[in-house]
Amino acid sequence: MRCPYCDSTRTRVIDTTQSASGVRRRRECKGCQKRFSTMERAILTTPLLVKKDGRREEFNRDKLISGLRTACARRPVSADDLERLVDRVESQIRQMGKSEVPSRVVGDLTIEELEALDPVSYVRYAIVYLGLEDLEAVRAEIDRLLDEGSAG
Ligand SMILES: [Zn+2]
Repeated sequence: MRCPYCDSTRTRVIDTTQSASGVRRRRECKGCQKRFSTMERAILTTPLLVKKDGRREEFNRDKLISGLRTACARRPVSADDLERLVDRVESQIRQMGKSEVPSRVVGDLTIEELEALDPVSYVRYAIVYLGLEDLEAVRAEIDRLLDEGSAG
């Protein structure tokens, strides 16, 4: 750590405090005796997604939003709702603190978020992305949703 006053690299830590935003260290320069603080915090990056076939791809918000838009067509879901949904999904995978996660993690989180947002959009999305292709599976999923709705 270089002193911001004299550029000396000889500094010592005189105090360390933990705060919500990171670790703050009070330092004193051995060259000019001036004191300054540094802040150490975790940098959260979005992990790469590992697909079933082993290929890696970057988290693509636009692609996710465009899939969601299709599922939410003519539903009372605003563009802002979708932006916020994708924000939450991205921040959850960042908080895993990994450099790579299976791409299905994104699918699972998205589905969960969408279920809370709009059940009809959720079913449409699930048909496409979970492969609920046969009608029985779709009906079972709709029944489950209706049960949850009447229970809650
Ligand atoms: Zn200095």
